[in-house]
Amino acid sequence: MEQQIILRVRPDETVCFPALCVACGQPAGERLALQKRRGQVTRRLDAPLCAECARRLARRSGDEERLLRLSWPAAILVTLLSAALVAAVLPFGSWWLRLALGFALGVISGAFVRRVLVRRAEATELPERRAVRESARIVDFTWRDMTLAFTHEEMAAQVAALNPDYLPGEQPLEEQPEAGDAGAPDNE
Ligand SMILES: [Zn+2]
Repeated sequence: MEQQIILRVRPDETVCFPALCVACGQPAGERLALQKRRGQVTRRLDAPLCAECARRLARRSGDEERLLRLSWPAAILVTLLSAALVAAVLPFGSWWLRLALGFALGVISGAFVRRVLVRRAEATELPERRAVRESARIVDFTWRDMTLAFTHEEMAAQVAALNPDYLPGEQPLEEQPEAGDAGAPDNE
Protein backbone atom coordinates (compact mmCIF):
# COMPACT_ATOMS: atom_id res chain seq x y z
CA MET A 1 0.00 0.00 0.00
CA GLU A 2 1.34 3.36 -1.02
CA GLN A 3 1.21 6.32 1.30
CA GLN A 4 1.02 9.85 -0.10
CA ILE A 5 1.87 13.10 1.62
CA ILE A 6 1.42 16.63 0.39
CA LEU A 7 4.07 19.19 1.34
CA ARG A 8 3.71 22.92 0.80
CA VAL A 9 7.21 23.17 -0.53
CA ARG A 10 8.24 25.63 -3.22
CA PRO A 11 10.90 24.93 -5.85
CA ASP A 12 13.70 26.62 -3.87
CA GLU A 13 12.88 24.88 -0.57
CA THR A 14 14.28 21.52 0.47
CA VAL A 15 12.47 18.55 1.96
CA CYS A 16 14.07 16.87 5.01
CA PHE A 17 14.43 13.09 5.07
CA PRO A 18 15.50 10.82 7.89
CA ALA A 19 18.98 9.32 7.33
CA LEU A 20 17.32 6.01 6.47
CA CYS A 21 16.90 4.21 3.17
CA VAL A 22 13.48 4.95 1.63
CA ALA A 23 13.35 1.44 0.16
CA CYS A 24 14.32 -0.72 3.15
CA GLY A 25 14.83 1.47 6.24
CA GLN A 26 18.55 0.69 6.73
CA PRO A 27 21.02 3.53 7.44
CA ALA A 28 21.47 5.45 4.21
CA GLY A 29 24.62 6.76 2.54
CA GLU A 30 23.49 6.98 -1.07
CA ARG A 31 20.80 8.90 -2.92
CA LEU A 32 17.76 8.09 -4.98
CA ALA A 33 17.16 10.92 -7.44
CA LEU A 34 13.44 11.58 -7.79
CA GLN A 35 12.12 13.65 -10.60
CA LYS A 36 8.82 14.53 -12.14
CA ARG A 37 8.19 16.48 -15.30
CA ARG A 38 5.09 18.48 -16.09
CA GLY A 39 5.26 20.24 -19.40
CA GLN A 40 8.48 22.28 -19.41
CA VAL A 41 9.00 22.15 -15.66
CA THR A 42 10.89 19.41 -13.84
CA ARG A 43 11.05 19.08 -10.07
CA ARG A 44 13.91 17.12 -8.54
CA LEU A 45 14.46 15.75 -5.09
CA ASP A 46 17.06 13.41 -3.56
CA ALA A 47 15.84 10.70 -1.22
CA PRO A 48 18.22 8.69 0.98
CA LEU A 49 19.16 5.17 -0.10
CA CYS A 50 21.38 2.52 1.52
CA ALA A 51 24.37 1.06 -0.32
CA GLU A 52 22.61 -2.26 -0.95
CA CYS A 53 19.54 -0.62 -2.51
CA ALA A 54 21.80 1.68 -4.55
CA ARG A 55 23.41 -1.46 -5.96
CA ARG A 56 19.97 -2.92 -6.76
CA LEU A 57 19.08 0.33 -8.52
CA ALA A 58 22.21 0.15 -10.67
CA ARG A 59 21.61 -3.44 -11.75
CA ARG A 60 20.02 -3.93 -15.14
CA SER A 61 18.72 -7.13 -16.69
CA GLY A 62 20.61 -8.48 -19.73
CA ASP A 63 17.69 -7.64 -22.01
CA GLU A 64 17.42 -4.13 -20.61
CA GLU A 65 21.13 -3.57 -21.18
CA ARG A 66 20.97 -4.88 -24.75
CA LEU A 67 17.88 -2.88 -25.72
CA LEU A 68 19.29 0.36 -24.31
CA ARG A 69 22.63 -0.21 -26.04
CA LEU A 70 20.82 -0.94 -29.31
CA SER A 71 18.46 2.03 -29.10
CA TRP A 72 20.87 4.76 -30.26
CA PRO A 73 22.41 3.03 -33.32
CA ALA A 74 18.91 1.81 -34.28
CA ALA A 75 17.51 5.34 -34.01
CA ILE A 76 20.36 6.80 -36.09
CA LEU A 77 20.01 4.11 -38.74
CA VAL A 78 16.24 4.66 -39.00
CA THR A 79 16.76 8.44 -39.17
CA LEU A 80 19.22 8.15 -42.06
CA LEU A 81 17.20 5.52 -43.93
CA SER A 82 13.92 7.41 -43.75
CA ALA A 83 15.66 10.69 -44.64
CA ALA A 84 17.15 9.04 -47.75
CA LEU A 85 13.88 7.33 -48.62
CA VAL A 86 11.73 10.45 -48.27
CA ALA A 87 14.25 12.56 -50.22
CA ALA A 88 14.29 9.95 -52.99
CA VAL A 89 10.55 9.41 -53.41
CA LEU A 90 9.16 12.93 -52.98
CA PRO A 91 7.94 14.03 -56.43
CA PHE A 92 8.38 17.78 -55.96
CA GLY A 93 10.79 20.48 -54.89
CA SER A 94 14.50 20.94 -55.28
CA TRP A 95 16.90 18.33 -53.91
CA TRP A 96 17.80 20.37 -50.83
CA LEU A 97 14.14 20.91 -49.92
CA ARG A 98 13.47 17.17 -50.26
CA LEU A 99 16.54 16.42 -48.19
CA ALA A 100 15.50 18.84 -45.45
CA LEU A 101 11.97 17.41 -45.36
CA GLY A 102 13.33 13.89 -45.42
CA PHE A 103 15.66 14.65 -42.56
CA ALA A 104 12.89 16.19 -40.47
CA LEU A 105 10.70 13.12 -40.96
CA GLY A 106 13.72 10.89 -40.39
CA VAL A 107 14.43 12.49 -37.02
CA ILE A 108 10.81 11.92 -36.00
CA SER A 109 10.88 8.25 -36.94
CA GLY A 110 14.30 7.78 -35.32
CA ALA A 111 13.03 9.30 -32.08
CA PHE A 112 10.00 7.05 -32.26
CA VAL A 113 12.14 3.94 -32.68
CA ARG A 114 14.34 4.91 -29.75
CA ARG A 115 11.29 5.53 -27.58
CA VAL A 116 9.86 2.12 -28.42
CA LEU A 117 13.15 0.40 -27.55
CA VAL A 118 13.53 2.34 -24.29
CA ARG A 119 9.95 1.38 -23.34
CA ARG A 120 10.78 -2.25 -24.11
CA ALA A 121 13.91 -1.99 -21.98
CA GLU A 122 11.88 -0.55 -19.10
CA ALA A 123 9.48 -3.49 -19.35
CA THR A 124 12.35 -5.92 -18.71
CA GLU A 125 13.46 -4.08 -15.57
CA LEU A 126 14.38 -6.38 -12.67
CA PRO A 127 11.62 -6.43 -10.03
CA GLU A 128 14.03 -5.56 -7.20
CA ARG A 129 15.25 -2.54 -9.16
CA ARG A 130 11.68 -1.41 -9.76
CA ALA A 131 10.88 -1.82 -6.07
CA VAL A 132 13.75 0.52 -5.15
CA ARG A 133 12.92 3.01 -7.89
CA GLU A 134 9.27 3.18 -6.85
CA SER A 135 9.86 3.26 -3.10
CA ALA A 136 9.67 7.07 -3.23
CA ARG A 137 8.13 9.11 -6.02
CA ILE A 138 7.08 12.66 -6.78
CA VAL A 139 3.47 12.08 -7.77
CA ASP A 140 2.61 15.65 -8.63
CA PHE A 141 3.63 19.23 -7.93
CA THR A 142 2.58 22.81 -8.40
CA TRP A 143 4.54 26.01 -7.86
CA ARG A 144 3.78 25.82 -4.14
CA ASP A 145 3.32 22.17 -3.21
CA MET A 146 4.47 18.68 -3.97
CA THR A 147 2.80 15.29 -3.51
CA LEU A 148 5.18 12.50 -2.55
CA ALA A 149 4.36 8.79 -2.44
CA PHE A 150 6.19 6.16 -0.40
CA THR A 151 5.77 2.40 -0.46
CA HIS A 152 6.58 2.29 3.27
CA GLU A 153 4.12 4.00 5.56
CA GLU A 154 6.72 4.59 8.27
CA MET A 155 8.86 6.55 5.82
CA ALA A 156 5.88 8.72 4.83
CA ALA A 157 5.15 9.36 8.51
CA GLN A 158 8.78 10.23 9.26
CA VAL A 159 9.06 12.62 6.32
CA ALA A 160 5.83 14.29 7.41
CA ALA A 161 7.16 14.57 10.98
CA LEU A 162 10.48 16.05 9.81
CA ASN A 163 8.81 18.75 7.72
CA PRO A 164 6.10 20.14 10.02
CA ASP A 165 6.31 23.62 8.49
CA TYR A 166 5.38 22.29 5.07
CA LEU A 167 2.36 20.26 6.09
CA PRO A 168 -0.98 21.64 4.97
CA GLY A 169 -3.27 21.98 7.97
CA GLU A 170 -6.18 19.66 7.23
CA GLN A 171 -4.74 16.62 5.50
CA PRO A 172 -1.33 15.61 6.82
CA LEU A 173 -1.63 12.01 5.63
CA GLU A 174 -3.73 10.78 2.77
CA GLU A 175 -4.13 7.06 2.22
CA GLN A 176 -4.07 5.64 -1.27
CA PRO A 177 -5.72 2.23 -0.94
CA GLU A 178 -5.69 1.13 -4.56
CA ALA A 179 -2.26 -0.06 -5.63
CA GLY A 180 -3.58 -0.57 -9.15
CA ASP A 181 -1.68 2.11 -11.00
CA ALA A 182 1.37 2.00 -8.74
CA GLY A 183 3.08 -0.50 -11.04
CA ALA A 184 2.75 1.56 -14.20
CA PRO A 185 6.17 3.08 -14.89
CA ASP A 186 5.08 5.39 -17.67
CA ASN A 187 2.39 7.56 -16.20
CA GLU A 188 4.21 10.86 -16.53
ZN1 LIG B 1 17.96 0.10 1.39
